[in-house]
Order: sequence, then C-alpha cells, then structure tokens
Amino acid sequence: MVSTLSHKCLSPSMTTFSRTHFSNPFVSYGNRTTKQRRKLMQVKATVMHEAPFSVSKSTHSVAEIDMDQTPQKKQLKVLVAGGGIGGLVFALAAKRKGFEVVVFEKDLSAIRGEGQYRGPIQIQSNALAALEAIDMNVADEVMRVGCITGDRINGLVDGVSGSWYIKFDTFTPAAERGLPVTRVISRMALQEILARAVGDDVIMNGSNVVDFIDHETKVTVVLDNGQKYDGDLLVGADGIWSKVRTKLFGSTEATYSGYTCYTGIADFVPPDIESVGYRVFLGHKQYFVSSDVGAGKMQWYAFHQEPAGGVDTPNGKKERLLKIFEGWCDNAIDLIVATEEEAILRRDIYDRTPTLTWGKGRVTLLGDSVHAMQPNMGQGGCMAIEDGYQLAFELDNAWQQSAKSGSTIDIASSLKSYERERRLRVTFVHGMARMAALMASTYKAYLGVGLGPFEFLTKFRIPHPGRVGGRFFIQKSMPLMLNWVLGGNSSKLEGRPLCCRLSDKVC
Ligand SMILES: Cc1cc2nc3c(=O)[nH]c(=O)nc-3n(C[C@H](O)[C@H](O)[C@H](O)COP(=O)(O)OP(=O)(O)OC[C@H]3O[C@@H](n4cnc5c(N)ncnc54)[C@H](O)[C@@H]3O)c2cc1C
Repeated sequence: MVSTLSHKCLSPSMTTFSRTHFSNPFVSYGNRTTKQRRKLMQVKATVMHEAPFSVSKSTHSVAEIDMDQTPQKKQLKVLVAGGGIGGLVFALAAKRKGFEVVVFEKDLSAIRGEGQYRGPIQIQSNALAALEAIDMNVADEVMRVGCITGDRINGLVDGVSGSWYIKFDTFTPAAERGLPVTRVISRMALQEILARAVGDDVIMNGSNVVDFIDHETKVTVVLDNGQKYDGDLLVGADGIWSKVRTKLFGSTEATYSGYTCYTGIADFVPPDIESVGYRVFLGHKQYFVSSDVGAGKMQWYAFHQEPAGGVDTPNGKKERLLKIFEGWCDNAIDLIVATEEEAILRRDIYDRTPTLTWGKGRVTLLGDSVHAMQPNMGQGGCMAIEDGYQLAFELDNAWQQSAKSGSTIDIASSLKSYERERRLRVTFVHGMARMAALMASTYKAYLGVGLGPFEFLTKFRIPHPGRVGGRFFIQKSMPLMLNWVLGGNSSKLEGRPLCCRLSDKVC
C-alpha cells in the first residue's frame, strides 16, 4: 500500500489526477480576461515574423516546442547568465512572450553549479502556479513527475520524543486560492523538463560568463574563451557566487548561516508515509528534516551549528551524525542508518542579505544571485521561479507600451519595475528562512537544555517555557504566514486558470 502511493506519485502513467481541473468557487476572474485580450491585439500589430534565432553549439536533443504557445517574435534579445532553475524558468517565460533569448550556462549537468548536491527539491504551490502561468504544459509535466507532499501532514516535531509540535496545513491555502498542491521533484528531472522546453537553440552549454559591458544601447557578454555576444539586456541568474552581481556591485561576502548541513537519500519507507509528507525535527542547535520524495525514497537534511569549513574523517560522516543525533527519535535515526556512507553529502549553508537594488541600466539579477536564502522554507528556488515570471511580464509590458506609443522600449525602467514588484516579498521570505533557523537553534524541549551545569534538570522533563510560548505564537502565525507565502503572489499571475486540482488530495 505504501509503495503504491510512492509509485503513483512518480509514475507517468498515473497522471489523470493532476490533469483534471476544477474551477475554484472562491475566486473570480474579474475583467482580467478582457484586459489580456486587448493587450494581445496590440502586440499582434507590432510583432515581427522572423526565422528562429540559433546560436547554440550544445548537444542536447531537439526540444519539442509547442508552437501554439510560442507567439510571434518581438525584436528584443535577452541574454541570461546561468541556466539553473531561475535562469531556465525566466528563459522559458521570455520565450513564451515572444522574445529572443540566449542562455549562457557554465555546465548544465552540474545542477545548481555543484553536481554532487543534486537532491530533490520542493516546488511549492506559489511556484507551481507561476509555472502554470508561464507554460501550462511544462507545469503539468513537473506536477506529473513530482511527488505530492502538500496533501499530507507536514510540520514540526520534537527531535527527541518525535511528538508533534506544530502541524502545517499547506493544502487549504492552495485549495482556497485555486493553486496546485506542493510537490517534491528531482532537481535533474526538473532541469531536464525546463531545458527541453527552453530548447537547445537557446541554451549555450559550456559557456562561462566572466564579464559584461553595458553600452547603454546594448549589453555585451564576455565568455572565458574570449567570445562576445551582444543583446538588449542581461539577466544574471548565475547563483549565489554570481559574477554578474560582483561586476555590478563589487565583491561582497556571502553570510554563513552558522550551520553545516548533511544531506542524504535513503531507500526507506516510514510506516506513516501515507499520512506524513515532511517533518522538521527540532533540537537545540541542531535540527533534522525528512521528506518523502516518492519511489520508496526519503530525503533528509541534518543541520548542526558549528563554524564553517569543517571536514569529516574519511568514511566518518555517518558515525559523526549518529553521535550528534544520539538519543533522537527513531524517525530520524532510521534514516541516517538506512543511508549509504557515500550517499551522505555535506555543505556549509550560506545566504545573501537581499538588497534594495537588483541591477543597473540594462542588467539585472534573478534568483540566488540576488537573494540566496537558507533552505529552511524550501522557497529559494520557488522565489527564483516567481522572479522569472515577473521579469518576463514586466518586459512584455514595456514592449507593449512602446508599441502603443511608437517610442523605443524603456528597458531600464522595466527592470526597475520588476525589482520593485519582487524585493519586498523576497525579503520577507528570506527573513522567514533565517528566523526558522533561529527558532531551531533556540528550541529547547525541557528546562535544563543548554544550561551546562544544570543540564541534569532535563531528566525531570519539565516543558521549557520558550517551547510552550513558541507553540502558541507559531500556531497563531503559521496559517497566516503559509497563506501569504503560498498564495500571496497569485493575484499577480496572468494566463492561468484559477482552478484547484482537488484530485491532488487523493494521490
Ligand atoms: C540544501 C538545500 C535545499 C534546498 N531545498 C529547496 C527546496 O526544497 N525548494 C526550493 O525552492 N529551494 C530550495 N533550495 C534553494 C534552491 O536550491 C536555490 O534557491 C535555487 O537553486 C536557485 O536557483 P538559481 O537559478 O537562482 O541558482 P542556481 O540553481 O545556483 O543556478 C545558477 C546556475 O548558473 C550557472 N553559473 C554560475 N556561474 C556561471 C557563469 N559565470 N557563467 C555561466 N553560468 C554560470 C551554474 O552552473 C548554475 O547552473 C535549497 C537549497 C539548499 C542549499
């Protein structure tokens, strides 16, 4: 029964549940459809009929592009540095708007620039909805391949006892706002789906961007092999160690979160798989996250507060983890035990404090390059997806205005609009991700925890007042927060039916 559930979530043949749309009785379209139709007519009056642009030398298979979704070309060439989640989603959105796009990617096989960290990723309702607005077929494929976790119990538990501290309801905010339900998907599968839709004529794999020049009338991108490419604007989607960001604003240090993070994927099916999607196990200065990723596999993350740069002895990761998490509940320990030593990876967690300014002139940033965040909310990639939608939307808006007025498109202003639309939301989510780590590091189940000589008090199991107060606060604030994170961007999305895949609930 358990494995059937996992199989259903991954198997392409079991797809009817995610294809069926139900109209949402809670939300109405208003007059958006009419407005959109009007805009579309204006674009049609100004579009160019060109042969498809091709610069790629990449070896990817030819993309199956849904011609119905690709509008006629608009004369604007968009250069993108970085073909990670953010770069590819934006490229897809810009392409679907009819812009000419070139993506320069250092190494498409690396996934997040670091091949060995290619674990599954949670794509939450807000990002799935943005994907739907960009390209319904791509969104459908991501949802078909992904494993639904948003329909089960998710939340925080006490790391030692395993008892529930707070349960999250991520399904209701999605259902009420007409959004898809959160999934977990392999990063490689996601990248493959996106790259195929973007097309090998757009992605220049093996292209390392080392510099750019903003000439005010165009931008020139310089690759490490000396090749140069001109475009109308440049989007730096080149991740947390972004070269485009450094060139724009100078070199700044990323912020160490205080945590090192071990990750692993175990062939393991917990007995409560049918009712629990993911769990965050709280502890003092350490926490542990487990999530169903489908196909009988569980992914886990183990966070431990310590200075950056620590190195494990050869074959010593598992042993160290079992020591750090000694005495924790079986739900966590079983996963560490079930994971092969070689499958355990370690990285120090960094983020970047978001800035008010995301770009200058004809150059802007997107995703981790401007707002890399700690993984505690599972929203870093989701925010990059939202960025991608918004940036393409603003460019299209600027294009339409210029077509209407007969003036040149104001690229710099459209990049500023994008920045204004995104920065507040991203800053809040970034802050929440930091707060979640703070909460985990200050969580104390019982009086005496972390009190040095008074540590003996823990054996009396007196609930820590912070835990009691914290629970009250989280219980009140969590539904509001989830509603805003999952649904707060949905009113900005055009071009997707406001519908809820209620049948997601039965996967
Ligand atoms: C442990 C962990 C778990 C996470 N879990 C989640 C989750 O569940 N959900 C979620 O939404 N987010 C999650 N995140 C965050 C998420 O991985 C990132 O926010 C997301 O990958 C950002 O996408 P991006 O495209 O901006 O950057 P990246 O994914 O880093 O992509 C940047 C791309 O640019 C390329 N590149 C870099 N430099 C150059 C250059 N000079 N020239 C050309 N190409 C270049 C790289 O090769 C890479 O492909 C997690 C992060 C971590 C660390």
